[in-house]
Amino acid sequence: MAVIITDTCINCAACIDECPVEAIVDEDDNPTGEEIYYVYADKCVECVDHHEVPACAEACPTEGCIVWGDVVDGMPEHSNRGAVGTPVIEE
Ligand code: SF4
Ligand code: SF4
Repeated sequence: MAVIITDTCINCAACIDECPVEAIVDEDDNPTGEEIYYVYADKCVECVDHHEVPACAEACPTEGCIVWGDVVDGMPEHSNRGAVGTPVIEE
């Protein structure tokens, strides 16, 4: 994992163009079949070396929608990441 988009996602598209590594897909391309946006964990770099804060979470208007997941082996890890399942941006 990396960051996870949860089922409170309203498919607003605010996050998708903010991702520097194109790790986000919309509901039509979500491999789980859920009608929400999705982050590919093997692509997400948690915005390390791109932004101080994960750009998707900063852009997302839905409180607590994007949460921390587990880190995929070998992928960058944000230095200030919270516990798995907690919102990336605490309101
Ligand atoms: S944390 Fe950064 S790299 Fe990961 S999905 Fe969000 S915008 Fe993309
Ligand atoms: S910005 Fe948030 S609510 Fe909008 S599509 Fe992305 S994850 Fe879903």
